[in-house]
Amino acid sequence: MTSFNDLGLAEPIARAITDSGYDTPTPIQARAIPTLMQGRDLVGIAQTGTGKTAAFTLPLLHRLSAYDSPPGARRCRALVLAPTRELAAQIEDNAQRYARHTGLSLTTIFGGVKPRPQIKALEPGVDLLIATPGRLMDHISTGVLRIDRVDMVVLDEADQMLDLGFLPTIRKLMAMLTRKRQTLLFSATMPAQIRKLANDFLTDPVEISVAPQSTPVERIDQEAILLDRSEKRFALRDLLAPREVERAIVFTRTKHGANRVVQNLDKDGLEAVAIHGNKSQSQREKALAAFRDGSVRILVATDIAARGIDIPGVSHVINYDLPNVSESYVHRIGRTARAGTDGIAVSLVEPDDRILLRDIEKLIGRHLSELGADLEIPKGAKRPGSGNRGRQNAPRKAKRPPRSSDGQASTAKPKPKRKPPSAGKSAEGQSGDKPKSAGGQKRRRPPRRRNTNTKSA
Ligand code: AMP
Repeated sequence: MTSFNDLGLAEPIARAITDSGYDTPTPIQARAIPTLMQGRDLVGIAQTGTGKTAAFTLPLLHRLSAYDSPPGARRCRALVLAPTRELAAQIEDNAQRYARHTGLSLTTIFGGVKPRPQIKALEPGVDLLIATPGRLMDHISTGVLRIDRVDMVVLDEADQMLDLGFLPTIRKLMAMLTRKRQTLLFSATMPAQIRKLANDFLTDPVEISVAPQSTPVERIDQEAILLDRSEKRFALRDLLAPREVERAIVFTRTKHGANRVVQNLDKDGLEAVAIHGNKSQSQREKALAAFRDGSVRILVATDIAARGIDIPGVSHVINYDLPNVSESYVHRIGRTARAGTDGIAVSLVEPDDRILLRDIEKLIGRHLSELGADLEIPKGAKRPGSGNRGRQNAPRKAKRPPRSSDGQASTAKPKPKRKPPSAGKSAEGQSGDKPKSAGGQKRRRPPRRRNTNTKSA
């Protein structure tokens, strides 16, 4: 097995790895780092939580250490682009840790916060810049930053970065870079049409895929519960109440839906915090910090938190609503079972969402509910958001009990204990609460198997 010593990383970086307590490189690291140290372009596909951040950050820092002059005022040498502010901040945390003995400078810029401190940080130039695309473009257009001498660029969560919402900005940014640059694309999922698109930005890339594409980590115990919309609130309460739920992320389709879930959990005596695109940056940071430090054990989120966020000890991921895009399912459940631990993912599936469930099952290659194999999609059924929220095709509901963390059927069954709210007042899906991207952008209904156009700024 490869050890970090075999990789030949610069001594200050090797020391920081030891400080981090890493013994051996993960498979994506063992395969990607030597290639990247040689300056090759790369498409890296690995499951979430498998050490992708270090797989690209360590060789970037190694190559940056070889320069003997600073990057120059208002310039950067290496650029990492991420779809959300939270992910950008997390990459910086990791990168700062790995760079601590190198003397290299790095900073992060994203939207939702005052630009002045960022302008000040960019003024002398930085070796490594981590950014969300919108704010980066703002700083470039106001002359605060030039990226024409960037030698290395990384698109993290690359399939999302190349989907409709981000693509125009990414194209503009890539056109500003030198052609001789090294380009790295990393993701857990890479739909074929996005992969094709990626070729526009790559030169003779090496492709590394350390696990079959889109296969969620095997340690996650996954399950879907079929139930009526009016039962979801109480099912969620019953899933989250048991003590073995140490830390849970509940995903909703809309920002409004996330707020409603928090309110309902509060009424049911369960404290939760929400994170979504309508919250201010300080609210987002506060919520994430409370969840991270364990003072609140339930985080309710839109897909803004689905990608890349690494919080140890997330025992459960609950899909209160299924995502509209199958790949998002893989990213969402990847928030649990990180760094070698186990995890449980439960999806609450209402009748209208069976078609989404079927798409997800197809993508991950397994059935999530016992009835999955037999699901009959009603004729003319459409995906949520397409206007067909009618109940006329409601199938027989079928429920399975949630599992406890030891994998056994839990005694906490998601039975409605109160009178369900009337159809017009259900916790989710009121008219006017159309699915939108996590960043507040109106969401166009994507073609099958494409990623949502989440925006960060
Ligand atoms: P990532 O997939 O980059 O978000 O990383 C997932 C988690 O694995 C993070 O908490 C990292 O600190 C940790 N990690 C990354 N590389 C290693 C390694 N070689 N050995 C042990 N833990 C690691």
